[in-house]
Amino acid sequence: MTHFACTMCGKCCQDLRLPLSVAESVSWIRRGGTLEVFCDAVPWPVEPAADDVPAQHKRRVSFAAASGSQPIRVIVTLVAAFDGPCPNLRDDMRCDIYDERPRVCRIYPAEVVPYLKFVPANKLCPPEAWSATHPPFEQNGRIFDAETAEIIRQSRETTAQDADVKQRVMALLGFTAAAFSNEGFVIYTPDPAAALDALETAIAAASSPMSIEAIHDWTFVSNQQETVEALRSIKAKATASDPHDPQEGPAFQYLGFRPAQSASH
Ligand code: SF4
Ligand code: SF4
Repeated sequence: MTHFACTMCGKCCQDLRLPLSVAESVSWIRRGGTLEVFCDAVPWPVEPAADDVPAQHKRRVSFAAASGSQPIRVIVTLVAAFDGPCPNLRDDMRCDIYDERPRVCRIYPAEVVPYLKFVPANKLCPPEAWSATHPPFEQNGRIFDAETAEIIRQSRETTAQDADVKQRVMALLGFTAAAFSNEGFVIYTPDPAAALDALETAIAAASSPMSIEAIHDWTFVSNQQETVEALRSIKAKATASDPHDPQEGPAFQYLGFRPAQSASH
């Protein structure tokens, strides 16, 4: 069993990329924050088994699309981006928007992804936060604090519900590139006004007859030659991460988890 009490060290409010819901993204931009859009995707030739927990999770948080003739699922993560202290962090290490802070801030240091093992050493909290004298926090995936457990439940539900709106947002912004899952991310940094407009239009479309045509022709991006070639061999569209060809759509950055391996174009 893990015990925990926040020491208010403020480390979880510095140099971060915070995953936000669609509604939280709207609030974040309205407050003047910067939004980044992380995209990754995976070929999806068949539906996974019902007891394949990671694949079923990926299915819930993604939307169906295609790359070339290959069915795929695309995962879009809307991210509040800041280097240094969060713009909402006060000098006394308190949050200036405490009552409206994103869910991810309320959950930390617990895990949101259902199949990820909770490992205190992977968290930013200092050792004294994990003293056995503190209240029980986690055991075998169970979070003891009922409020935190409920916010995790809401967060998972919202992420699944948001997938549809995110698909429309991508169509409105013309974003059609995605990293191969588990290798990296394609990161778009849209103009805040354009991002806000796309989010609000997509939200309105979700509850009205307005239709926004989804983009079904996505391109995989990878910094690994084998991955580009393997994707092309199954008739998916795949390209090297560098350099980005402006003819192929809005500019993005590629964040690779492994060193680049020269890829053919
Ligand atoms: S919104 Fe508040 S709690 Fe969240 S990172 Fe910023 S200062 Fe910290
Ligand atoms: S890093 Fe951990 S201990 Fe420090 S403020 Fe965040 S939750 Fe609290």
